[in-house]
Amino acid sequence: MTKFSDSVLLEEAKKTCHYFWQSGWGEFHAGNLSYLLDEVELAKFSSDFTLKREIPVTFSTEGLAGRVFLVTRSGAVFRKILQNPEEDFGVIRVRNGYLEVLWGFANDQRPTSELSAHLQCHSKRLAANDKNRLVLHCHPTYTIAMTFAHQLDQQKFTETLWRLNSECVLVFPDGLGLLPWMVCGDGAIGAETAKKMKDHRIVIWPYHGMFASGESFDEVIGLIETIEKNAQIYMLTQQALNPGIQTEQVRELAKAFEVEMYY
Ligand SMILES: [Zn+2]
Repeated sequence: MTKFSDSVLLEEAKKTCHYFWQSGWGEFHAGNLSYLLDEVELAKFSSDFTLKREIPVTFSTEGLAGRVFLVTRSGAVFRKILQNPEEDFGVIRVRNGYLEVLWGFANDQRPTSELSAHLQCHSKRLAANDKNRLVLHCHPTYTIAMTFAHQLDQQKFTETLWRLNSECVLVFPDGLGLLPWMVCGDGAIGAETAKKMKDHRIVIWPYHGMFASGESFDEVIGLIETIEKNAQIYMLTQQALNPGIQTEQVRELAKAFEVEMYY
């Protein structure tokens, strides 16, 4: 029986959070992660997962009762995330109105304060794609900068990014969700983010960061990297001489890649 502390999954989660810090996207307490375990993973770690304690929650857990997630703790510091995984991560089973801690969250730690947004996003993404596993939040520098420099119109924001590199429309033909600025935490922003996740794997929070989802760590990290790289190109080319790729040319690219553009 594999110990969860030695698992490939926990290793991947730790390395992902640390990579975000190394990239400058997870400063101080910024960033959080949730991963839905499937039946095979649950069976593998069944002897390691035992009920440690219960945590009441005030938000709705509708549609996710019984599901088990690996989650980062509230206040986790991604710079130090490789040091105390049993404190910085926990495995929780969602129940109606409360959570069961099955592993981790040592020393009375609690799940991320963005858990409500995470769970609502999982719920909406699973309805769109039952293979969705991961939801990640981080603070990618140039993407945040672009929310200051670009008009905050979801369609225009998406189309600008599609026009920055020939491969953008291949990586995210579903475009981006873009919210107005909102107070972060367990208020209305969770439901609004989840609503956007019905159609888009990425949702941008202006002047704050990004929520990203997908089937695997590679997919989600790849999405974040692609958007962040091209937001950087946007910020570097404000005085550009050439007009770049035109909207009609993006349509040609989508046809060549055989992907369906959201707009
Ligand atoms: Zn944040």
